[in-house]
Amino acid sequence: MPFGDLLTELKGLPILARYSLTLYRRRNGTVASSGRFESCATVVEDPLCREVSRHFFEENMEVFFEEGTPSVCRYGGGFFGFLIPFTLSGEDLCLVGDGVREESIDLWQLASLARKGGDAFSLLPYVESLCTASYEEVEEVAEQVRRRIESYRLPARRHNERPAVAVAQEPVGDEALYAVSQALERLDNIGTVTGCIAICCETIVTTFQAARVAVALPDSERKSFSVTGMWGLPEQLGTLSMEALQLFTAPGRAKKTVLWEGKLRETLPEVRATVCTTFPLKAQEERLGFLAIFDTDLPPNAALLISMLAGAMAGKLSALDRDATRSKESALSERLMSLTDTLLQIDSKDLLYESILKIASDLIDATQGSIMLIDKDGVGMQIVFTLGMTLNIARCLQLKVGKGIAGMVAKTGQPLLVNDVEKDSRVAMANRLRFKSKSLICIPLKLKDKVIGVLNLSDKKNLRPFTHADLMLLTSFANLASLMIERTEVLEESVRFEQLSVTDPLTGLYNRRFLKSRLEEELNRSARQGLNLTIIFIDLDFFKSYNDLCGHLAGDEALKITADIIKESLREMDIVARYGGEEFCAVLPGTSKAEAMIVAERIRFEIESKRFPGESDIPLRRLTASLGVASFPEDGRSFNDLVHASDIALYEAKARGRNRIVAARTSSQQGESRHGAAEARPAATHSNLAKTLDFNAYLEASLQSKG
Ligand code: GH3
Ligand code: MG
Ligand code: MG
Repeated sequence: MPFGDLLTELKGLPILARYSLTLYRRRNGTVASSGRFESCATVVEDPLCREVSRHFFEENMEVFFEEGTPSVCRYGGGFFGFLIPFTLSGEDLCLVGDGVREESIDLWQLASLARKGGDAFSLLPYVESLCTASYEEVEEVAEQVRRRIESYRLPARRHNERPAVAVAQEPVGDEALYAVSQALERLDNIGTVTGCIAICCETIVTTFQAARVAVALPDSERKSFSVTGMWGLPEQLGTLSMEALQLFTAPGRAKKTVLWEGKLRETLPEVRATVCTTFPLKAQEERLGFLAIFDTDLPPNAALLISMLAGAMAGKLSALDRDATRSKESALSERLMSLTDTLLQIDSKDLLYESILKIASDLIDATQGSIMLIDKDGVGMQIVFTLGMTLNIARCLQLKVGKGIAGMVAKTGQPLLVNDVEKDSRVAMANRLRFKSKSLICIPLKLKDKVIGVLNLSDKKNLRPFTHADLMLLTSFANLASLMIERTEVLEESVRFEQLSVTDPLTGLYNRRFLKSRLEEELNRSARQGLNLTIIFIDLDFFKSYNDLCGHLAGDEALKITADIIKESLREMDIVARYGGEEFCAVLPGTSKAEAMIVAERIRFEIESKRFPGESDIPLRRLTASLGVASFPEDGRSFNDLVHASDIALYEAKARGRNRIVAARTSSQQGESRHGAAEARPAATHSNLAKTLDFNAYLEASLQSKG
């Protein structure tokens, strides 16, 4: 068709009524593709617009043509125009349409335009009189015109000297539609990325006779795209940067993009092809890559079906990616939960540091590392544990917050991932000998916003740089590690506090630990001075029942009253402690067993006689105590021996019916005293049987008293 006729025919389209149209043709140069474009036919609606668009489009027409897809541009003071590159009968052509403007007029740009010929204000009424359109509307017009041109186009080769490209089976009929709908159904049920890609590529190859197919997908860091040959091509075709990707997937709503040999050779040298048609893989506006078909001339219907397939594939890939992220997150939180359990078992600081460093290095495959903690003054830092280097040397290092790599991390609270210590401008230092690789990770250990230290790791097992994923993983773990460090510090502090205290808060008596050290002192003194010493263990009878029947508050009160009774029965020099729940221990220095039995009886009697709160509610209607007495040196010479001897005596008192005193047996004498009378009787060994029998008696008594 002659070019003039083509233009008249297009101008007849109602959507182009407001547009001026100009057709450009590539002038033949010595090398076919080197010729510039020249205007070969034009239908002018508006001369000024036409003039401006001519300047704008002609300047870069080769670039527009190379892009292969319609371009919509805004130029001048707010004019809109489109350019459609196409090939017809072996000719390279560009159709330019112009003559509409956008709603707002940019006066500054209009003024600069006017400088070339007239003044801005004289142009304004003229520009205002032009029809307005939105960018999207012009895009839509361009797309419709492109489709119209496509229908004139023969499935021709772009240039005579270029090798022939495979021509897809025509016409694309019902079988193709059926094959694609089948593929869409299969895609719905597939659960893997490779399966999803295989279904699409297989369908394209078999249904549209594509000669060679490739797929570009983002790398793990999502900064570049790997291109993989799927059919008729080597597997690894190279990597594209974000910018290079733009060439393959035109912005806007373009369903496909066409790229010719020159650009292809520049970006994907591994692929030797004349023409490449790409279909964007786009899901929810996120660009996931593209599907590329090489050297296959696709009729419009085929392109439409393939773009549907690409759309479905992108949707599926994005869903699979979301699932993978979700399961990775839940695997991570499960892993962190189990690590929490492990770390909670540890209550010593050094073991905790060691475990933290071990876990952290395992998580990211590091072989060297250290934990640094900031001093209380917030100025210095101490290395508290190391992995792969000597701790003793590391401990001597003087580190300061704000100085060096870890110091900066401690100061800013921002994690640092360095690929190469020698090249990273933030660090820029020579790699030290002890590091095999130049990549390192420093993560702040933080409690809320307060930095308490830094976790440093280096030397990945495979000697490759650490990744962003490593950084994320370690950051999650560092939060847990910080909490555990804080917890152990609080624990150690509370133990220290407890060690400082000597009294029991409820009764005001000495506590068990203090009793031990005091009793040991007294035993030493008694040994040195050849004096006697006796201890009395006092345990309330059936106190659990008392607690249950009268309440815990009454129980506490009874313990305080008992403590007072014991204190009042002793001398100033005697020591009395709360040994356990309802168990007390009195130490009587310089006192023989016989003398102590009198004191013990006083205590037993006072407790039996005392009216305790709620006492009438318990089966025997009175709270009593059993006592065990043991003396130095005859029953034991050490703290442990003496306590053991009095414990056995106490159990015997329980077994024999409670509310009584039993003195520890010596080889020459065993003794029991009830109501002050000391008797020599063989002491029963404390046995559960004795306790059970006794408890039955107690129950019987309680039943009788109720009846
Ligand atoms: P037994 O005659 O054999 O000594 O029997 P028991 O019930 O006194 O002995 P057991 O050791 O089974 O129970 C001791 C009870 O003392 C358990 C607990 O309810 C109570 N107890 C321990 N410490 C406290 C405390 O600080 N306050 C209160 N109210 N009760 C306590
Ligand atoms: Mg008791
Ligand atoms: Mg007890």
